[in-house]
Amino acid sequence: MKKTIKTIALLSLTVFVIACKGDEKKTETSTTETPSVTETSTSESTAFTLTIEGNDQMQFNKTELRVPVGEPVELTLKHVGKMAKEVMGHNFVLLDVGVDFNTFATEASTAKDNDYIPEDTSGIIVHTGMLGGGESETVEFTINEAGTYDFLCSFPGHYAMMKGVLIAE
Ligand code: ZN
Repeated sequence: MKKTIKTIALLSLTVFVIACKGDEKKTETSTTETPSVTETSTSESTAFTLTIEGNDQMQFNKTELRVPVGEPVELTLKHVGKMAKEVMGHNFVLLDVGVDFNTFATEASTAKDNDYIPEDTSGIIVHTGMLGGGESETVEFTINEAGTYDFLCSFPGHYAMMKGVLIAE
């Protein structure tokens, strides 16, 4: 059930991206008809996007992310390595304020059957699936309270190096 919803979300996202691209082309070709006001509203309706990469050296390329409070954020995790997810899997897990980082990471590392996401997800704001080399996944979320949030890759042992903070301001 959960997976179906996710697939639909991904599909609609793809359609959305295609639709956006179509719009861009339209505005390019019909510049004379459309006033510049349209261009402004188009860019404002787009979610805040950011990308973070994980590699075969067990590293994220960023340890600090900044997002606006109260606005939809589209975050893409890209595994830029070549190794399989069973050996060098990476995910992006964003923890809520007040969740103990080490306790969570230890618990997550035992949840192998669930891609290292613990059964109790109440402390998780958002997470991607576990990715192998060459894969990527985009998730959407909104942070409604300014603050500093921990993120990590929950693959066993990775959190020691693959961690950082997301600052909502
Ligand atoms: Zn990892």
